[in-house]
Amino acid sequence: MNPVTYATIDLLAISHNLAVVRHYAPHAQIMTVIKADGYGHGLLSVAKALTKADALAVARVDEAIRLRKAGFKQRLAVLEGFMSREELDAFVTYNLEAVIHCAEQVGLLEDKKDLCSLSLWLKIDSGMNRLGFKPTEFLTIYHRLKACLAFDAIIHFMTHLANADDENDPKTLEQIKLFKKTVNPFKGACSIANSAGIFSWKAALSDWVRPGLMLYGISPFEKKTGGQLALKPVMNLYSQLIAIKELQKGEAVGYGGTWVADKTMRLGIVAIGYGDGYPRHAKTGTPVLINGQRVPLVGRVSMDMLTVDLSLQPQAKVYDSVTLWGDGLAVEEIAICANTIAYTLVCGITPRVIKIEL
Ligand SMILES: *Cc1c(COP(=O)(O)O)cnc(C)c1O
Repeated sequence: MNPVTYATIDLLAISHNLAVVRHYAPHAQIMTVIKADGYGHGLLSVAKALTKADALAVARVDEAIRLRKAGFKQRLAVLEGFMSREELDAFVTYNLEAVIHCAEQVGLLEDKKDLCSLSLWLKIDSGMNRLGFKPTEFLTIYHRLKACLAFDAIIHFMTHLANADDENDPKTLEQIKLFKKTVNPFKGACSIANSAGIFSWKAALSDWVRPGLMLYGISPFEKKTGGQLALKPVMNLYSQLIAIKELQKGEAVGYGGTWVADKTMRLGIVAIGYGDGYPRHAKTGTPVLINGQRVPLVGRVSMDMLTVDLSLQPQAKVYDSVTLWGDGLAVEEIAICANTIAYTLVCGITPRVIKIEL
């Protein structure tokens, strides 16, 4: 029985997008970011397509353990590090690399007593004001960490850019400069760039880059789609027309009757809604593809369904396939129609949507 509503995950597209990262950052090692279930694409599927990456990164330790238990042996970093003694022990057991961003984590290492041979990433807050140590705290923390580590353990350095998607924002260069000035005297690899940094900021291409979004074929820039950056979309989201209605002029559609037919028309009912992760705030006019042609969404999105105006598709029939985003309809475009960003759309696909690896 084929699912009515499903997503395909194109693993070859991920490999292609990884090659695009290499093209932009030919001298850097690549830490591919697959947090949040591989940005909603499926953690293990995505990891399988990234065995050629130099390292993987997730946000939390449970995601990393899932990868290790599934047999992934690559270098594996946890961007939020450990939050307890138990988690620290798991880093040792599973050979995970911790990002150290706050003094409490240094305290946990100090309390551990036996010297650790973990690889650590020391996170510098160069201006985003989220995770990391201020440059003024750096030296003290660095020496405290060194004292906890076995002689062969390595401390690398990381920072995160707040505004890299705006090519004209001077803040990015300021962040890069401050980071480099802080860690320069020390040996250890440096990592700065996310997807936007990789595309736009040569100065951010240090020893390691950390692409996330672009691996999934999605553009980090508001005014460009992944296609325009030579990326290939990884997720295609599909459903079906499950009913067609004839409406008279003046009849209202859906909850709240927010949309009213201005002529006699055919209305299509599609079996996908916010219960699948399709954005409830997608406005009237948001494009949907039926038989390769765009038709506009009309009225409010409900939990399991949405409605489209079939005036431009007189030949459409019940059980025709519907594409919500993917090839021919960029998820970035849907994000704009729903007043959000593409990250939230792909991350928001709910478990009832079957994912099929291609
Ligand atoms: C999520 C994340 C990335 C990847 O960012 P993209 O914009 O998806 O490329 C890189 N580094 C850190 C610290 C992150 O949290």
